[in-house]
Amino acid sequence: MTAKPRRLVVVSNRVADFNAKFQTGGLAVALGDTLKASHGVWFGWSGDVTEDAVSTAPKVENVEGLTVATIDLTPEEAEGYYYGYANRCLWPALHYRLDLAKGNEAHSEIYFNVSARFADALMPLVGPDDLIWVHDYHLIPLAEELRGRGCTARIGFFLHTPFPSPEIFAAVPGQKRLGNALMVYDVVGFQTCSDRDNFRRYVAASLDGEQLRGDRIAAQGETTLASVFPIGIDATAFRKLAESESAKGPLLPDLGEDMKTIIGVDRLDYTKGLPERLRAFETLLEDFPEHRGRVRLVQVAPPTRETLPVYQEIREEVERLVGRINGRFGDLRWTPVTYLHRGVPQDILTRLYRESAVGLVTPLRDGMNLVAKEYVAAQAPQDPGVLVLSRFAGAAEQLREALLINPHDINEMARALDRALTMPRQERWARHNRLWQRIETYDLDTWRDSFIQTFAASDSDPVNLFPK
Ligand code: ADP
Repeated sequence: MTAKPRRLVVVSNRVADFNAKFQTGGLAVALGDTLKASHGVWFGWSGDVTEDAVSTAPKVENVEGLTVATIDLTPEEAEGYYYGYANRCLWPALHYRLDLAKGNEAHSEIYFNVSARFADALMPLVGPDDLIWVHDYHLIPLAEELRGRGCTARIGFFLHTPFPSPEIFAAVPGQKRLGNALMVYDVVGFQTCSDRDNFRRYVAASLDGEQLRGDRIAAQGETTLASVFPIGIDATAFRKLAESESAKGPLLPDLGEDMKTIIGVDRLDYTKGLPERLRAFETLLEDFPEHRGRVRLVQVAPPTRETLPVYQEIREEVERLVGRINGRFGDLRWTPVTYLHRGVPQDILTRLYRESAVGLVTPLRDGMNLVAKEYVAAQAPQDPGVLVLSRFAGAAEQLREALLINPHDINEMARALDRALTMPRQERWARHNRLWQRIETYDLDTWRDSFIQTFAASDSDPVNLFPK
């Protein structure tokens, strides 16, 4: 008997903008075509905030066979659910920053109520044979809400952020409700083995759970499959773009053959380790004076969540450090740090990656970190640059041939930068080859297909995506 084709229903906080000229978000690229082919549904918040959001019907559009459905949020919902519990409590806590996690019972109540509202609006759009794939920490309670409304479709969840160690998760205000809500899903996907193991240990310790066969776990009368699906990039397309763009010639000002570039590209988020990175670059110039006048750091850091004070603080700190390093070491010819506080188009980003001798990725914690993979994919295979990568990025579990560093150890990072800048071509080539093979094998399509296969097959074990 052949399996009935399943329709995919994707739910995320925001839906991709299918009216945009270029689709840049990874999720939109990965899921757009599959959704269109299966005449699927993408459901989420419109991004609009309106007073009468609760009484307004969802907006439903058809985009090449795909149904895009969105709802607005009320000002209280946007504040409590999105800016409040999701961004001010869950985001920091999932990234090990309990010091920044602001618990607020009113906000967490609104967070749970928004999932209920999502469920109300979604129920008429889904059928029993659909695969409902919920994304990220904003919508953890959704499966529970859907089940409570009689939904019998399979429901899976993917967490794009880390799942922290159980001691950290147990300290999150509202954690038991979240943990129980996760157990309701048929599949819970994580970026890394360490995230999955943390979840398993949390379920055992805080929810009285137990591990069954393989990745299956049970707690509170529910069983789920907690598995690993490391997200990837569209590696081949990225490499192709890098090749065609590099033919256009250098983008950065020509400061002579000896000038090497270190590139950093991150949202200006406190999880990305930007101050630590700048201090490491400063230490490199201090401790290895031979690099002075011969290396520049280009840091592209677009704004993010700017209304929250902690994001304003990190921006001020970054800008202070950039000014200090440039004032201290720069001269009339050479500016050590070039800092852009804005997004840049993907073709420009690709050229910057390819022109840079070092990709510097130093998050204090990160679910995966796609910039690390993009940097590798953009390199010229015969003369590649070196990736310096935080051990605390999910990508470090796969990208073991990068120079792995502890972003809290400024001296170690400075030494790694020196090593990367002086690495012989043969070693660069050998490391790059291994990294590229893995990025190409575990790409965005593999991530999507392995999740969907695992999810569609009722009791089968997951496809093991993880490199041996
Ligand atoms: P996060 O999802 O936490 O922002 P990732 O590294 O996983 O971190 O993904 C970031 C994505 O955003 C990458 O695809 C990267 O190319 C893109 N990006 C980051 N900074 C910029 C920028 N300044 N301009 C354009 N795209 C950017």
